[in-house]
Amino acid sequence: MKIGVIGAGATGLTAASDLVRDGHEVTVLEGADELGGLAGSLTVQGTPLERYYHHVFRTDRDVIGLVEELGLAEKLRFHKTTTGIYHDGVMHDFSTPADMLRFPPLSLLERIRFGASSAALKAIRRGERLGDRRALAWVRRWAGRRATEVIWEPLLIGKFGARAPEISMAWLWARVHFRTFELGYLDGGFDQVYTGLLRSVQEHGGKVEFGKRLASIAQPDPAGPVEVRTEDGARYEYDKVLVTVPQPAFAQATGAPADDVLHRNEYLGATCFVLECDRSVIPYYWLNVNDPASPFLAVVEHTRLVPPAEYGGRHVVYVGNYVPRDDWRFTTDPAELLEQYVPWLRRLNPDFDLSWVQDWHFSRAPFAQPVVTPEYRASIPPHETSMPGVVLATMSQVYPQDRGQNYAVAMARRVVQQYFR
Ligand SMILES: Cc1cc2nc3c(=O)[nH]c(=O)nc-3n(C[C@H](O)[C@H](O)[C@H](O)COP(=O)(O)OP(=O)(O)OC[C@H]3O[C@@H](n4cnc5c(N)ncnc54)[C@H](O)[C@@H]3O)c2cc1C
Repeated sequence: MKIGVIGAGATGLTAASDLVRDGHEVTVLEGADELGGLAGSLTVQGTPLERYYHHVFRTDRDVIGLVEELGLAEKLRFHKTTTGIYHDGVMHDFSTPADMLRFPPLSLLERIRFGASSAALKAIRRGERLGDRRALAWVRRWAGRRATEVIWEPLLIGKFGARAPEISMAWLWARVHFRTFELGYLDGGFDQVYTGLLRSVQEHGGKVEFGKRLASIAQPDPAGPVEVRTEDGARYEYDKVLVTVPQPAFAQATGAPADDVLHRNEYLGATCFVLECDRSVIPYYWLNVNDPASPFLAVVEHTRLVPPAEYGGRHVVYVGNYVPRDDWRFTTDPAELLEQYVPWLRRLNPDFDLSWVQDWHFSRAPFAQPVVTPEYRASIPPHETSMPGVVLATMSQVYPQDRGQNYAVAMARRVVQQYFR
């Protein structure tokens, strides 16, 4: 078959690589001028680095399997990492169950209750059954009022802003349930996965075209070809098309009316700085900033996972956020935004100074995190679309797990098996 794949992120590239190996004639049309989508990379002192902090868990079997297939297994190393929580002006260790049981902002009884409810989330196997409950109500009941105020509520507000009270317990369950203490990172960056997939597609005769933003997709005759147009005016015809772009981009390209189910699920955007510093900024790999007044959600010092020597001695620090697309943190000029973050970075490290930052990069993604409410599950579109030749495999269909490279790879493989063989 002649197959078009729209989007060269984890889903599109995994699918394209499997499809060319099945003998199909495949073209990937990617809107941006680089690979990898949300898992795409920039370079820091010559080494590829993800635009947004990325690691994998030991439970991420599908992406680990792909890493092995690409011959990269030796580079995937799991690390014991350190996590902190900034609460009420103080940073607290939150790396191990023992740290959690010592966590000073909670009383002994509150810590025990928090520990027991977290253990229950680890033990519950079918967390999608909690899909109808709201996460904040669930944790208030089982983890207690104080643990909710200090830990869960700031995390949910940091991630989902004003939508936090609506978030489904299935989402929070998945975040806790599948998490492992050790985090995996690919020495040299996950970019190697995406360049490896690109190579596999090209070696089997497939093509990847960049700068090809999907404008419209239609199949006028259900037995005929699928017509794809891109914003640069190009027109393509395929026997079948796999669409992996965010759901709103697909909805728009099909011309679906505003009340169509395709328009129902909402996404937040993400913004992220990569600061190349001449010294360390925080004493943790991951710091949750549990203060609703903070303009950012988390600071991730990547070079506490991978040594600074990998990046020419630079200490790599991410400062990240999930925000609506009309939020000031999404629309403000990045240089100005960085200035606005400085007072908050100083709260985490009183000595912090912009002169520590030797270089910085800023990334902005409009569709980065679906807003998973109790109603969400009912609005997830099926992979089959109204056009028999068009299959949809997009991040919003990953449920109840939170989106991630692992689930992108798993979905791509499932969809290829089910709809293209
Ligand atoms: C801040 C942040 C942190 C994350 N951390 C982790 C982590 O630690 N571990 C982990 O495994 N995952 C993490 N993820 C999630 C992971 O990056 C995604 O789940 C995964 O990359 C999704 O892949 P995808 O191919 O489904 O979607 P995308 O990456 O969104 O790929 C879609 C592709 O379609 C392209 N596209 C969009 N619109 C159009 C259009 N109109 N026409 C043509 N092309 C278009 C995009 O440019 C993109 O290349 C993180 C994500 C974010 C935002």
